Amino acid sequence: MRKLALLLSTICLAVSVSAVDNAYHFSIDQTKTPDHKLSVEVTPPQLNETQVIYSLPKMVPGTYSIYDFGRFVEDFKAFDQKGSPLQVTHIDTNSWRIQNANTLGKITYRVRDTYHASKTDNPIFEPAGSDFQPDTCFVLNFHTMIGYFRGHTRLYYELNIKHAPNFYGSTSLVDRDNSETQDQYIVPNYNEVVDNPVMYTVPDTAHLKIGESDVLVSVFSPGKTATAAGIAKGIDTLLQAQGKYLGGKLPVPQYSFLIYLSDHDGLTGGYGALEHSYGSMYYLIDGTDEKLASTVRNVASHEFFHIMTPLNIHSEEIANFDFDNAKMSEHLWLYEGSTEYHAHSVQVRYGLISPEEYLSAIRQEMNEAQFAFNDSLSFTELSLGALDKYKDQYANVYAKGALISLCLDLKLIKDSEGKYRLMDLINDLAKTYGKDKAFKDTELFDKIYSLTKPDIKDFIENCIIGNKPLPFKEVLEYAGVNYTKVKTESSYSFGGFGVGYNQETQRLIVGSLQNLNAFGRKMGYQEGDEILSVNGKKLTAGDFSPFRAQWLKTVKDGDKFKMVVLRKAPNGKLKKKTLQAKVFKAETHNYNLLSFAKDPTAEQLKIRKAWLEAGNN
Ligand SMILES: [Zn+2]
Repeated sequence: MRKLALLLSTICLAVSVSAVDNAYHFSIDQTKTPDHKLSVEVTPPQLNETQVIYSLPKMVPGTYSIYDFGRFVEDFKAFDQKGSPLQVTHIDTNSWRIQNANTLGKITYRVRDTYHASKTDNPIFEPAGSDFQPDTCFVLNFHTMIGYFRGHTRLYYELNIKHAPNFYGSTSLVDRDNSETQDQYIVPNYNEVVDNPVMYTVPDTAHLKIGESDVLVSVFSPGKTATAAGIAKGIDTLLQAQGKYLGGKLPVPQYSFLIYLSDHDGLTGGYGALEHSYGSMYYLIDGTDEKLASTVRNVASHEFFHIMTPLNIHSEEIANFDFDNAKMSEHLWLYEGSTEYHAHSVQVRYGLISPEEYLSAIRQEMNEAQFAFNDSLSFTELSLGALDKYKDQYANVYAKGALISLCLDLKLIKDSEGKYRLMDLINDLAKTYGKDKAFKDTELFDKIYSLTKPDIKDFIENCIIGNKPLPFKEVLEYAGVNYTKVKTESSYSFGGFGVGYNQETQRLIVGSLQNLNAFGRKMGYQEGDEILSVNGKKLTAGDFSPFRAQWLKTVKDGDKFKMVVLRKAPNGKLKKKTLQAKVFKAETHNYNLLSFAKDPTAEQLKIRKAWLEAGNN
């Protein structure tokens, strides 16, 4: 979600010592970290102001959450060049005002890691957080520990990091220090400090070559069950396909997968990854190579495509990211939505999933957009309000956002008789804008209109800016795919409730009752019931769907069905309750059914082929 002005590998080598004279100099010592705390020492660049404000970011690109990283800082002190203390005022959570700044010689403070913070106090999504564990692993997302003087984020940063001799720092940055116990990174500005995490651990790394680019896979597995070589082998086919999908070569010379594995769920109750221009940082549950390769594949196919959007196409809001008070762009349909669309599209085009599996992924997105979110909210408005007003709608960028791209792709393919796809449009936009040239948020649609036929303008005005439903039936028919909005039939089910998840208790919950059927009513579900067990089996988020699928294979009329839940009593306390009924078939509505037409026309086949098959490239 940000801009990199220059390629790091080349710029780092080209920097002369004098160029970094007026730079921030940071020292961090990993060998002294009591209680998950690191000491940070800053020698500031030359400042001419008499007072300055030093800040840690309120938020960083890609997370779409306000995290207030300053709250992890303690014992903040400033000294003049002779070592005498300077007056400091802690003006808000993230900021410290320093007087007589023109005499400032040094700042010191301690910072706590985020992985061991409170679970209830706005926990930080682990891929954007920090972990300081002297014997095992350090996750350094620098924005959790390194700040900037307001108005001075465009100066060089010299980061000096002392580490244990048996630890290696995995990153896309270049280490300029030959010592076994000290690394030095020189980074041209604060945006790139934030954009380049480092993971220190006893090394387990593997390398892949995608086109001409070097890809590093670095793994920390506490149970030693997963290895970098195993995971690299498991994602190689996908990455090669992604390289081809992007036109045979990657727009970056190097890329790092930093994979932190944990033996427990994160503070936010889940796992995932955060994208960067030259890599992505993962927080996943430890397991075998095979299991992890499949998880990493699913997550990586999304993160990896971020090297196109927004690295190569982005608005000024992202290029000049305001760490104190970020402003949202209206184009999350592009940054997150198209990225998610391509993540699935590449898999079907290169045979990693079957066309039928691809349709079922689309159906899942359709159901999610329809039932888990406000389906009639303008997508540009959602995007602009993603931090506050529409915070609860943000995750729809991965469902409806991807479906918007599906419609665009099929429309472009039809308009060009199979010659021009969404990826071609994105490549054309990247030629106009590119990584060094941001667009104005309001001008992107006009640029797209100038490159495409009028039906694309109608679609954008009605379905991205406007709030009209996406035209699934129309666009899928271009490719000979049958679409049925709803089909009613009599069948077995758990009762038709929507399944939700309580992040705090890490339990599945009974979500929306909108589609509850007669069996569900007989069971007596209430929205918010926390699911403890079904038919005596304790269920977690991961095994709910397989369990239900298995149950559907053998269930018959009159079988007992029992669910133990925790239900909120009027006094607010949770009380255990057993819900049970004898199973019967109930009238159930199945939504968004998709299937390939058996007898497509030649024209439909041509569009289907352009949409789902990779051809010769
Ligand atoms: Zn993303």
